[in-house]
Amino acid sequence: MNRLIYEECGVFGIWLPGREAVSTAVMGLIALQHRGQESAGISWSQQGELIDKRGMGLVEDVFRGFDYSIEACAAIGHVRYSTMGKSSLINAQPLTFSSRMGPMALAHNGNLVNAPEIRTQLEQQGSIFQTSSDIEVVAHLLARSTTTDLDGALVSALGQVRGAYALLILTPHRLLAVRDPHGIRPLVLGKFRGGWVAASETCALDTVGGEFVREVEPGEMVSLSSRGLESIPLFPPRKQAFCIFEYIYFARPDSVFNGRNVHNVRRELGRALAREAPAEADIVTGVPDSSLSAAAGYAEAAGLPYETGLIRNRYLGRTFIRPCQQQRDLGVALKLNPIRGVVEGKRVVLVDDSLIRGTTSLRIVQMLKDAGAKEVHLRIASPPITFGCGLGIDTKDELIAARMSSREIQEYVGASSLEYLSPEGMVAATDFKDCELCLGCFQGNHPIRRQEG
Ligand code: SF4
Repeated sequence: MNRLIYEECGVFGIWLPGREAVSTAVMGLIALQHRGQESAGISWSQQGELIDKRGMGLVEDVFRGFDYSIEACAAIGHVRYSTMGKSSLINAQPLTFSSRMGPMALAHNGNLVNAPEIRTQLEQQGSIFQTSSDIEVVAHLLARSTTTDLDGALVSALGQVRGAYALLILTPHRLLAVRDPHGIRPLVLGKFRGGWVAASETCALDTVGGEFVREVEPGEMVSLSSRGLESIPLFPPRKQAFCIFEYIYFARPDSVFNGRNVHNVRRELGRALAREAPAEADIVTGVPDSSLSAAAGYAEAAGLPYETGLIRNRYLGRTFIRPCQQQRDLGVALKLNPIRGVVEGKRVVLVDDSLIRGTTSLRIVQMLKDAGAKEVHLRIASPPITFGCGLGIDTKDELIAARMSSREIQEYVGASSLEYLSPEGMVAATDFKDCELCLGCFQGNHPIRRQEG
């Protein structure tokens, strides 16, 4: 999948008085690095004050040489890939600010679809914005709240925004974890050495040595403090709409949502695809890394050998690839290389998790043919994406399946055949019912619309 369209961020929070909060938060962010490589940052609570460190690039780069011997009671961290707002240090999170309620730091994964309208209104009323990130809208709404009680201010501020969010808020004495009422973005809770952790994915809990407890419920706020864990329902849960792209692409294969391991769901997507769209072929291979589980499942169900046909360059930072065609062409060749000895003379099933613009598939199919593949049968482990993510950048014009039929796409990418997984097959691979998932980019039925009243 071309990652230039759908992007995520990762959040990690820890409540653990002592010297481990900051170093553990950095470890948690490293485990969530796949969710964003543009910038990273941590805010921590130290003697009643909030202090932060943020920088551009990978977590490892931002925190190289950092002195971790900090006495803190809690920390929150963020890795960012911009969904809204420019890629610059000013937009790196956590976002820290002060108000009548005291100092606060915010870290957010998601998109607020009415942030531009609220921002315009606030600017007309004299508010000055420092960043182009939509989380600053929440900060302004919090600061303008007439209540001095943070929980009340959050109900007022988040009651005005519409969108998907997994939000961490740090004050000198509390760490709050809030999930939007539809539960679109993931947020999990775990125990860690007598303290608590909250993270976008369970892989971060595993990495730091935490123990998974449960997911934050849609519409719930969890407060972590010296009083322990308190659950505060901020909003009544609305129709659940967990983003199915967490399973298809965003999340790490070792993470678990709704009791289902991501790798196993992807493998099942591949198995279902093989049942629905078999191919006369010699081997099955997947586009690294997010399609490898689906490719293994396809091979298993088709009774074909699973082979490593493409090698990924693991040392190429995503930020190198810029969104212009010439650089994108170069990016694919730098990122992937076929193994001639595997694909030469073979009829290859190439499994990819999803098809966005089609330009990456075109290059990979060509690479495999140049390496001697006799046929390349492209199999997509999700249905055609014909709608943009209503919760992110509106990219409908760039979606190849919104403009071309399957036959036309097959010809465009040069594949011997092209088939997608059905929506039914996709949903059945999860433990969710279709009414509990967001399928907006496939069906256009986004749970939250930009123009909603
Ligand atoms: S439209 Fe829904 S399923 Fe698609 S990426 Fe956006 S939130 Fe996820």
